[in-house]
Amino acid sequence: MTRILHRQIDANLRTASGGKGVELFDQDGRGYIDASGGAAVSCLGHGHPDVVAALHAQADKLAYAHTSFFTSEVAEALAERLVADAPAGLDYIYFVSGGSEAVEAALKMARQYFVETGQPQRAKIIARRQSYHGNTLGALATGGNEWRRAQFKPLLAETHHIDPCYAYRYQEPGESETEYGTRSAQALEDKILELGPETVMAFVAEPVVGATAGAVPAVAGYFRRIREICDRYGVLLILDEVMCGMGRTGTLHACEQDGVAPDLMTVAKGLGGGYQPIGATFLAGRIYEAFANGSGLFQHGHTYICHPMACAAALAVQEVVARDRLLDNVKAMGAHLSRRLGERFGNHPHVGDVRGRGLFMGVELVEDRGTKAPFDPARKLNARIKREAMNRGLAVYPAGGTIDGSRGDHILLAPPFIIDAATVDTVVERLGEAVDAAIAQVA
Ligand code: PLP
Repeated sequence: MTRILHRQIDANLRTASGGKGVELFDQDGRGYIDASGGAAVSCLGHGHPDVVAALHAQADKLAYAHTSFFTSEVAEALAERLVADAPAGLDYIYFVSGGSEAVEAALKMARQYFVETGQPQRAKIIARRQSYHGNTLGALATGGNEWRRAQFKPLLAETHHIDPCYAYRYQEPGESETEYGTRSAQALEDKILELGPETVMAFVAEPVVGATAGAVPAVAGYFRRIREICDRYGVLLILDEVMCGMGRTGTLHACEQDGVAPDLMTVAKGLGGGYQPIGATFLAGRIYEAFANGSGLFQHGHTYICHPMACAAALAVQEVVARDRLLDNVKAMGAHLSRRLGERFGNHPHVGDVRGRGLFMGVELVEDRGTKAPFDPARKLNARIKREAMNRGLAVYPAGGTIDGSRGDHILLAPPFIIDAATVDTVVERLGEAVDAAIAQVA
C-alpha cells in the first residue's frame, strides 16, 4: 500500500534501499547496474565519500539562508567555478532546483531582456519537435513531445516547432551531412521569417536530444548555422543542456563540440549528480547588464534558489569530476560502449540506429529496418525492455515517442562517469538479452 501518487500508478515499484558506485540495491539486496544514471543524473555513481563528506560539512555549517537576505560562500564558490569553465560570454549564473526551473528561468530572462532593451514585441519562442525541456507549463510548452503536451494544450503558451536535426529519420538518401545540416537549420530561418523576425524572442534546442529521442546529436555544422541565423535576426539562442551537459558527452558542455556558445544555457542533472536537486541557467553578460542597468532585478525567484546544500553537493561533484579526470573516462568508456553496442546491435533486425556522444548513447528500435517503421505503441515495447532489463539486474531508460512524440521506441544509456570496461560489457550483454526477450513477446 502506498500513499504516494507515483508517476505510473500500477508500476509495482521495487524499493531502492541503497547504492554504491554504479550499482543500486533493492529491498531484497538485489543489485542493478545503473546504466542510465536514473535519467542521466548519477554521473559519479552512488555513495561517493567526498560528496557525502561535503554534504555533512555544509549541513553542519549552514543548511539554508533566504536569498533576499543573504548569499552564501558555497553558492558564490560554485558560481565562480562554473562560470570559469562556461562557453564564451556566459559570465553569470542563476541557481534553481532542477531542469524545468532552469528552462523557465531562461525563458523569463529572454523575455525580460527584450522588455528591458526596448523590444517588448519579441515574445515568440521557436523550438523543435522531438525535444523535451521539462514538465512545468512554460517548459512543457517549449518541448515538442506531443504525447506529453496533448492534454495540457489549453494551458500552454503558443510555441512554434520546427523539425529537429535527426539524421537517421530526416537526412535524404544522397544528401551529404553538410547539405542536410544546412537544410535542417534553414527551417529556423524560414520560421523566423514567417513569424516576423521582430516578434521572435528565442530559439530553444538540446544539443544532443535526450529523453524524447534517445541521444540524437545534430550533424556537424548545424548549430554553427543556427548561431548565425539567431545572430542575423537578433534572436536569443537558448541551449538546453539539462541532460546532455556537465560532462555527459565527454566535454563539460555538449555545445563545445558543436563550436557554438549560446546566449543562455541550462544545466541540471549531472551538475549535482543526484546528491541534491539542483539546476542552473547560465546567461550572457549583456543580458545580466540589461537587468543591472535597467530595472535592477530579475523579476523571478523561488524559495530554494542558491540552496547551500544543493550548491555544496554540486561543488563537490564538480571537484571530483575534475580532480579524477573523469571526462577522460567518459571519452574512453563512451567509445567502448559505442563499439560494443555496434557489435551487439549493428546487424540486429530490430535495431535501426545506434548513436550518441560520450557516455550518452541511444538505441532506436524498429519493426522493419528497411522502412524504419516503428513498432505499434500499443505493444509497449519500451516498457517490456525496461522490465526484462530490471529482471537481469540492469536499470536502463527505454522510452517511446521517438517519432512525433507518440510512436517509436528507444533506449537511452547514460551510465556514471566512473564505469569501467568490464561493466560496460555486462551492460551491453544484459541489454542485448533484455531486448531479445522483449521483442520475442511482440514480434
Ligand atoms: N530539459 C531537458 C533536456 C531534460 O532532459 C529534462 C529532464 O529530463 C528537463 C529539461 C527537465 O528537468 P527536470 O526533470 O529536472 O525538471
